[in-house]
Amino acid sequence: MGYTFPAREQRGAMAFTHIVFDLDETLYPRDAGLMQEIGRRITLWVQQSLGLTAEEANSLRRSYLRRYGTTLGGLIAEQQVDVDHYLAFVHDVPVERYIQPHPALAAMLDSLPLRKAIFTNATSEHARRVLRALGVADRFEQVVGIRELDLCNKPDPKTYRRLLALLDARAEDCILVEDRAVNLRPGKRMGMTTVLVDGVSEEGVDFVVEYVLEVGPLVTRLLGRGRYGWRLPPGLGGMRGG
Ligand SMILES: [Mg+2]
Repeated sequence: MGYTFPAREQRGAMAFTHIVFDLDETLYPRDAGLMQEIGRRITLWVQQSLGLTAEEANSLRRSYLRRYGTTLGGLIAEQQVDVDHYLAFVHDVPVERYIQPHPALAAMLDSLPLRKAIFTNATSEHARRVLRALGVADRFEQVVGIRELDLCNKPDPKTYRRLLALLDARAEDCILVEDRAVNLRPGKRMGMTTVLVDGVSEEGVDFVVEYVLEVGPLVTRLLGRGRYGWRLPPGLGGMRGG
């Protein structure tokens, strides 16, 4: 598969000011197990709060995820729930058991000459705990979590506008990195350049990388600083444009 480039890039190096990373399963891999543990606690909370069986709770979660992007999004829209209790309960997990320091990630982030932010549907407290466990907490200028987003979650377009306001940035100046294509699409529509981690290219995705560390060489190339110019040798970095 060849690489595809946004039109702007074909005119020369792209100018970006910010790079925005999703947190969970973007900065660390899916098989870390942390989100599975959080998922178990979300199901338990839904079960206990709404008086459902595990099967009913899981089925409701799937429906909410599809329609609202997150379980909490569905709970807020359709139920009377104690949001603070929910957020505290589902994130009450031993993060450090799942996430270890990742010096290569820190080095990759240091190689990016851009302002860095986290944009997550989790709380900023959870995000900071994960960032500390990874050893990269001081690399991010801003952590934008669900409360900073006024309890509105990705992929609602409102959250992306709120993010840009908090960053004081224009969409065109931002690179958005995420493990879910559905959460890249609104950013892409607004003009962000999008990078999908560990997924399959689809609408709204400019670039796909297999692992977050590959974001470093990709961004270097987009900024026109790569030694390979516009075209990487086939297979390098496992990138697939799309
Ligand atoms: Mg994620």
